[in-house]
Amino acid sequence: MYTSEFEYHRAGSVQEALTLMAANPDAKLLAGGHSLVPAMKLRLASPGALIDVSRIEGLRGIRVERGTDGDEIVIGAMTTHRDVEFSDVLREHCPLLHEVAPLIGDPMVRNRGTVGGAVAHADPAADYPASMLALGASMTIVGASGERTVPAEAFFRGMFETAVGPGELLTAIHVPVRTAGEGQAYEKFAHPASRYAIAGVAAVVRLQDGVMASARVALTGAGAQATRLTRVEEALTGQSPTADVIASAVRGAVHPDDLLGDHFASAEYRAHLVEVQARKAVLRAARIAAG
Ligand SMILES: Cc1cc2nc3c(=O)[nH]c(=O)nc-3n(C[C@H](O)[C@H](O)[C@H](O)COP(=O)(O)OP(=O)(O)OC[C@H]3O[C@@H](n4cnc5c(N)ncnc54)[C@H](O)[C@@H]3O)c2cc1C
Repeated sequence: MYTSEFEYHRAGSVQEALTLMAANPDAKLLAGGHSLVPAMKLRLASPGALIDVSRIEGLRGIRVERGTDGDEIVIGAMTTHRDVEFSDVLREHCPLLHEVAPLIGDPMVRNRGTVGGAVAHADPAADYPASMLALGASMTIVGASGERTVPAEAFFRGMFETAVGPGELLTAIHVPVRTAGEGQAYEKFAHPASRYAIAGVAAVVRLQDGVMASARVALTGAGAQATRLTRVEEALTGQSPTADVIASAVRGAVHPDDLLGDHFASAEYRAHLVEVQARKAVLRAARIAAG
């Protein structure tokens, strides 16, 4: 199917994007186009205009910066999945994202799709949102009234719903640099055709004196939005990272009533998959943390 007619604008700067959004209230931002264009072709979205932000100078790249709570990695919103996959900075300082990127779609999707587009789109089956929650990431949003930074928990608000408001633009994602004694892992049960997550779990575990001093575990794919599995996190914290402890902590991690069910996988099957992926992710993160 073809898209409905639309105007095309290419923004050369963040300011220009904001001005174009103000002048075109029915416009949508275009990043890699790998979620938006299929939606337009299916007529699930019919914006009157597209504002292409993919070539804005300064919105692409990955760098380490000194933040208020220690070093952090700043990822420009227009950084592609491929840039993430091949980033030495992320390989060293945030192996979770480095692990997640090559699991997304196929090479064409990874060449065009962007981290910012994926995070702003908030597809319930997207991979990054669970990682952002497990890492304790935050997102910088720019609008006419200025700039604000929102923690991942407050950023993801529902299915395809985020804290980015009308006329606003996500410009960067901030991720803490991995600390000593920390292990990170992502396990997903992927849809065999699209590679989207049917159930994906990201885990960040910090070991101290042989016990899990902290554990952040987050889920994507199975429910309406990515969420932290706080009950699992509480059950893990302060415990030895043995296979039995981890298996017991993830048991009944989610209730089928809180999950999606469709022709790919029933809610009951997804609940089972969540347990399996959570066990695998936490165990592997703990083993990495142990060195
Ligand atoms: C065949 C296929 C397989 C895929 N498999 C996976 C997979 O396995 N895992 C996965 O996670 N994803 C998958 N995807 C989705 C892919 O990762 C997309 O690239 C991503 O979801 C959207 O990023 P984009 O840059 O293409 O954004 P676009 O499609 O350009 O935009 C998506 C939405 O976000 C908005 N937007 C974009 N940038 C911004 C911004 N800076 N600020 C505010 N709003 C913005 C747009 O207006 C639009 O509404 C797949 C896609 C395809 C086509």
